[in-house]
Amino acid sequence: MSRIKIAELFYSIQGEGRYMGVPSVFLRTFGCNFKCAGFGMPRGEVSHEATDLAATHTMVKAFEKYQELPLVSTGCDSYASWHPDFKDLSPMLSSDAIADGIMDMLPYEEWRDEHLVITGGEPLLGWQRAYPDLLNHPKMAGLKEITFETNGTQKLTEEFKQYLLDWVCKEDAWRQITFSVSAKLPGSGEKWEEAILPEVVCEYEQVGYTYLKFVVATEQDLADAECAVGAYRSAGFTGPVYVMPVGGVERVYSLNNRTVAEMAMRKGWRYSDRLQVPLFKNEWGT
Ligand code: SF4
Repeated sequence: MSRIKIAELFYSIQGEGRYMGVPSVFLRTFGCNFKCAGFGMPRGEVSHEATDLAATHTMVKAFEKYQELPLVSTGCDSYASWHPDFKDLSPMLSSDAIADGIMDMLPYEEWRDEHLVITGGEPLLGWQRAYPDLLNHPKMAGLKEITFETNGTQKLTEEFKQYLLDWVCKEDAWRQITFSVSAKLPGSGEKWEEAILPEVVCEYEQVGYTYLKFVVATEQDLADAECAVGAYRSAGFTGPVYVMPVGGVERVYSLNNRTVAEMAMRKGWRYSDRLQVPLFKNEWGT
């Protein structure tokens, strides 16, 4: 039986993108190929919030579970789902344990209109080989919609691509796969040539409904997003584009959400909120 290193498994309302407002199970896998230490920082500078917290945790085992972790206002807001110093908070769980955990949190112990969000970290790293075992589990049979929240840099393996195409058509049930691609612009601190990989994202479009979602704060970010959209379109990408305000904490989010909504209108793109920030303060487990 396959096992997956799970940073978090929780039930909440999806706060971002296409499924905003939909009750959702979040499966947050451990590990990411990026750090995104530039979020919320002046261009060219990096945040040390995550590394400082990690150093404290390593020295004194400061935290016993995700819910105890502080929120950060700069850098990656899900830092503990990839920083190696927080590995001890993320158990390796079997498909059985994950499926049981999901049934325990669904209000009727069966899938109704809830959707599954597989997020991270970066959920399309090595875990692609483990998802079929979980999705084939009898307790997952009623699931109809899955979103992969990805940074858009990981190619689908041929086996997993075929599995997803078969999953959508299985048993004549209506099912849908979505790829929510949060491609990282230079404001994240990641390198363009490693973050903007149009051919990878075009391949997701062959498998499921795919959209781009850019975190923006400044006019420079918006110009970068426009340049990236041009690159994706040139490669054949046809899906919609969202812009979303920066801000894992309410103070930062509410400073720029209206500005970003106005940017979306100017460009003819979609605005994605971060509903989890005003609703739940973006605490771990929400
Ligand atoms: S890609 Fe996502 S999870 Fe990974 S470091 Fe960046 S924001 Fe965090």
